[in-house]
Amino acid sequence: MDKKLRFNSAAIHGGQQPDKAYGAVMPPIYQTSTYAQTTPGGHQGYEYSRTHNPTRTALERSIASIENAKHGMAFASGMAAIDTVLKLFQPGDEIISTDDLYGGSYRLMTKIFQKYGLKIHFVNMGNVENFKPLLNNKTRLIWIETPTNPMMKVVDIHAITSLGKTHDVLVAVDNTFASPYLQQPLNLGADIVMHSATKYLAGHSDTIIGLLAVNDDDLYEQLAFIQNSGGGVPGPMDCFLALRGIKTLHLRMQRHCENGAAVAIHLQEHPKIEKVYWPGFVNHPNHEVAKKQMKAFGGMLSFVPKGGDLATAKEILEKFQIFTLAESLGGVESLAGHPASMTHASIPKEIREQSGVVDGLIRLSIGIEDVQDLIEDLDQAIA
Ligand SMILES: *Cc1c(COP(=O)(O)O)cnc(C)c1O
Repeated sequence: MDKKLRFNSAAIHGGQQPDKAYGAVMPPIYQTSTYAQTTPGGHQGYEYSRTHNPTRTALERSIASIENAKHGMAFASGMAAIDTVLKLFQPGDEIISTDDLYGGSYRLMTKIFQKYGLKIHFVNMGNVENFKPLLNNKTRLIWIETPTNPMMKVVDIHAITSLGKTHDVLVAVDNTFASPYLQQPLNLGADIVMHSATKYLAGHSDTIIGLLAVNDDDLYEQLAFIQNSGGGVPGPMDCFLALRGIKTLHLRMQRHCENGAAVAIHLQEHPKIEKVYWPGFVNHPNHEVAKKQMKAFGGMLSFVPKGGDLATAKEILEKFQIFTLAESLGGVESLAGHPASMTHASIPKEIREQSGVVDGLIRLSIGIEDVQDLIEDLDQAIA
């Protein structure tokens, strides 16, 4: 299909073609490690499944299509995708990363890659002025996450990609929280988009998988070489599940956003709630940026009950009937998390509290249930 598709059509058809063998409309789960060759080197583009697999190719074409990229790549997890990006660099190279980073990315950068000589700076990306003292001739990468976890800060992607271009620095965006339905970082000038497709893209809390999308051929070749050398590849079943998830991404995201807005507004007005973090509020510090770069405000939000203490948060989390207390996000079902003891437990209390992650903070991933049921569940838990 050569025609440039609109987003909802691309989610279903982008880069897809009926399977060559029997015309299967969905790509078969090619559960094979290797491929027959007619003569040495005489294969049809597939020789060993660490390098390529047809089910994986179908997913890679899909993510390329919905991120408006030339190349897509699928990985064993979101972390395997980030690991591959960081291996582009040499000892002495410097990376500027957001100070409100996903815990797993923070751990990978500080506990693994610093050991191999990468220098990582963490900065508040709310203001491009903050980058100026850090940019130098060793800076190779700026790593953005927006909206951030769990404080829902929003970073101006275009402002930072412009900065990256003037300093000849690659810009990568972890687009997990927004999904390409809400924002497409390559269109805003980014070089690399990364997804934990475990979350919204696969969307059903049933697989761990990561994705990258890039435009530059040379960058793609380097990443493919690193991936094939290291081997962080997904199995065909996981690729199939992610691909199936993507086909309803637009429908699910629409409902995640509607439900997210209704829950955010309800909590904001609740007498027992102190603070709600959600980029759709006009008084959110980066509301204008969110409006400019996102189609809507997503299904993630965080809140602090009055008092903001651990006991109150625990009581609410234990009383939930529909929300499930669990790690992760972006699935059809609503989840609740406690960042201070779960995702951010490894960050010292003073540091996490400076960024707003107090003991009472609760993070919600709003699912696609009837929103009135979610609101009633919140009300009975908070009461
Ligand atoms: C979950 C997550 C990751 C890591 O992805 P996995 O699929 O769990 O390896 C990276 N970034 C963000 C923002 C995430 O939420």
